[in-house]
Amino acid sequence: MHVTFYGATREVTGSMHLLETGKDRILLDCGLFQGRRKESDAKNRIFPVDPALITNMVLSHAHIDHSGRIPLLVKGGFNGRIITTRTTADACHYLLKDSAHIQESDANYLNYKTVRGHLYNLSHAKKGQLTNRERGEIARLLKHNGLKLNATAIDNLLDQYNLKKVEPLYSMADAEAALSAFDGYPYNTPVTIGKGVTVTFFEAGHILGSAFCLLSFTERGQKRHVLFTGDIGRFDRPILKNPTLGFPEGLGPIDLLIMESTYGARHHEPTVELKERLGEVINETTQKDGVVVIPAFAFGRTQDVVYIIHELYNQGKVPRIPVFVDSPLAGNLTRVFAEHPEVYDDMAHHTFLERGKKPFEFKELTYIDSVAQSMECMKTTTPHIIISSSGMCEAGRILHHLRYRAHNPNNTIVVVGYMAQHTLGRRILELGEAFEAQGRKGDPPMVKILGKEYPLKARVVKIGGFSAHADQEEMLRFLRKSNIQIKQIAVVHGEEEQSLAFRDTLKEKGYKAVVPRPGQTVTLE
Ligand SMILES: [Zn+2]
Repeated sequence: MHVTFYGATREVTGSMHLLETGKDRILLDCGLFQGRRKESDAKNRIFPVDPALITNMVLSHAHIDHSGRIPLLVKGGFNGRIITTRTTADACHYLLKDSAHIQESDANYLNYKTVRGHLYNLSHAKKGQLTNRERGEIARLLKHNGLKLNATAIDNLLDQYNLKKVEPLYSMADAEAALSAFDGYPYNTPVTIGKGVTVTFFEAGHILGSAFCLLSFTERGQKRHVLFTGDIGRFDRPILKNPTLGFPEGLGPIDLLIMESTYGARHHEPTVELKERLGEVINETTQKDGVVVIPAFAFGRTQDVVYIIHELYNQGKVPRIPVFVDSPLAGNLTRVFAEHPEVYDDMAHHTFLERGKKPFEFKELTYIDSVAQSMECMKTTTPHIIISSSGMCEAGRILHHLRYRAHNPNNTIVVVGYMAQHTLGRRILELGEAFEAQGRKGDPPMVKILGKEYPLKARVVKIGGFSAHADQEEMLRFLRKSNIQIKQIAVVHGEEEQSLAFRDTLKEKGYKAVVPRPGQTVTLE
């Protein structure tokens, strides 16, 4: 029996591992590589295993870096089932379709740029410098009303000039085909996924539906267990239950623990302070008649923020100003949250459900769907809170809200999530914090949003403690306090330095641990 590590090895995205028992090949996760566009696109397009040879797939949770290549797996000839928790299956329904939409629009945009570049070159060759009128003519040819890309016209021109066409990684039809292969199961129930192989899901506390996946089978008369953590959540966070510590009695030793290490060498701020900090920001901004803008991922972070604001409102700690969630995807995913109260923690039940209240609904809260409603919200001048995606401000409606709000010093932009390098979110955070540190003196920093420069006069505040990943202390707590015995640990899902540092910590504590390289196989003793 062996496990080969194909993704999220010495990096955080593209989670994918293959368990081979001799009779079955079980794929663990099938995530998208994310990061620098060209590099990750190339990695995403190469599938390291023949999908037709995989028996079944087990999915730890819905995040796209764990699920985003499933449509590619199915497109490549995978005939098995995708086994996951019920909530993850429901969330993937929206997330995979959203991902397909992004893939299709990215490809359309690249093809548009190819054709536009070619037409510019043709005009240049004939007459030298392009006039604005000529540029306008080309734009009219390639865009409906000068706005939306005209895919048919672009396609025809690619053909006509024999230009290289970029195909999307997968299409909406591929995503829909993949979704029909999903089977959702409850936690703590063994599910047969191969000849004598079962998987049992245990709460991982990371996002709604996230699971530790326990794979059990018999090899040469011996019971074997592989435990795949997926992403490990934190203890005592709002809404979600804590990561599981109590596994079934008499389980026997875990032959291999495949463990994430995103924050393998870091320590988070305590979760208790974030509500207080957010309350302060809402109070201060309301006093200045400003608007609070919160970029947040549609799945997980948006619901965390809504939940905390709801608590602040109930406790009377802040004025009950209107709250808008402006992301149709976040609206749909919140509905998934609402449909699965069985996975909420006791506190959520006690605070809301037992009193007949719903955690994600309150009088002042509106989920915006239409563009017209979104535009209206941007023009509202009275104090309110706007939560919108994408989380790192790379695309989506948040860009328009930032464009409208960044120049006003009475507004506050609240950063509640990780902002990766080279993203607009990171730039806003760094420029904003630097301006704040120098006492807001001199000219405000300029920030480019949708191709135009804006002065960043709004206050930028970072509130830590929202992270959905356990830090080093919490991961060690999981190992120490859980009732499992571990023979060997494979450390995955972390930047190389985090994984290596965590491996060293594990070794100091007496564990046998390795950090596999991409494509490396670990054989069970
Ligand atoms: Zn995750």
